[in-house]
Amino acid sequence: MKLKNDILSKTPLEIAELMAELGQPKYRADQIFEWLHRRNATSFDEMENLPKSLRKELERVCKIQNISEVEKLISKNDGTTKFLTAFDNDVLVESVLMSYRHGASVCISTQAGCKMGCKFCVSTEEGFQRNLTAGEYCAQVYNAAKESPNGKLSGIVLMGCGEPLDNLDATTRFLELISHPKGLNIGQRHITISTCGLVPQIYELAEQQLQITLAISLHAPSDEIRKTIMPIAKKYPMKELIQSCKYYTEKTRRRLTFEYALAKGLNDSTNHAKALAKLLKGLLCHVNLIPINKARDKFHPTPRREIEAFAQTLQDNNINATIRRSLGGDIDAACGQLRARHI
Ligand code: SAH
Repeated sequence: MKLKNDILSKTPLEIAELMAELGQPKYRADQIFEWLHRRNATSFDEMENLPKSLRKELERVCKIQNISEVEKLISKNDGTTKFLTAFDNDVLVESVLMSYRHGASVCISTQAGCKMGCKFCVSTEEGFQRNLTAGEYCAQVYNAAKESPNGKLSGIVLMGCGEPLDNLDATTRFLELISHPKGLNIGQRHITISTCGLVPQIYELAEQQLQITLAISLHAPSDEIRKTIMPIAKKYPMKELIQSCKYYTEKTRRRLTFEYALAKGLNDSTNHAKALAKLLKGLLCHVNLIPINKARDKFHPTPRREIEAFAQTLQDNNINATIRRSLGGDIDAACGQLRARHI
């Protein structure tokens, strides 16, 4: 990607700068941006309102980062579609299209592989390959969106492989591209960014005062438990993490989501629920409970009835809690599972 201008990652303003360099009028930038981000052009040749000579010149100096589909799985249970795609031939990336009654949402990856090393997560098993570019985030969205039942998208979640805040520049650039009125124009309120809890980046994000939903993968009520499953907990203790969350909510006035995957015997007792409620007391947040996906042998999902009891304990202690509906169980839809099978 370094060799040529990565045009799919460029904002209209940056494309306008390129046009100036090429001696072209400014309005060409909007035309090109629209072709790429609204009309899913994969070559300059398709851009029929550009002069042929400009198309040729763009071909020479730029690259449109194309996505190729390696495998596609469709769940028989609920229509969830999982895509294994590739950039530059060997950079494998997963994304998922989930259809709900109110519309479809796409879950995308932010890195090929992951450095975070969470013990229950498959994405991390094969190590880290490289960061994805903002254009590559977009390409995943456009590729999945074309399969949406009504062609529309109601939301995007950055919850596939990788840690979005470990690739913060691409993540914030992606927000600009995807919410641009000349592109897909998805409002920030329809975008969720999930993080394992990189404290300095949470502060950095808070300063940007975005309208996105920030989700924190907590998965434990104490440092003691969290450290055994999430190496990042050794770097940023719970106290610092919760402080950064508090700052984030004060700065943005947006409600945080805490993701909490329940595993038998690990973090799912009534006492754990009480400790979690105490930890989150007074914070503008809600907890999303998830039966842990048995992607890695050591962890077993907590039975539904016990998850409901856990949710009730949180509610009784004034913490909002919901239980996430699990989709695509028959197609390895949890992050990293499909990619891992191909590496
Ligand atoms: N790195 C980011 C986003 C990618 S993971 C983060 O950590 O939030 C997306 C979500 O899936 C996270 O909440 C992660 O903890 C969760 N997850 C990963 N493996 C899982 C599993 N086996 N069962 C349930 N949730 C899992």
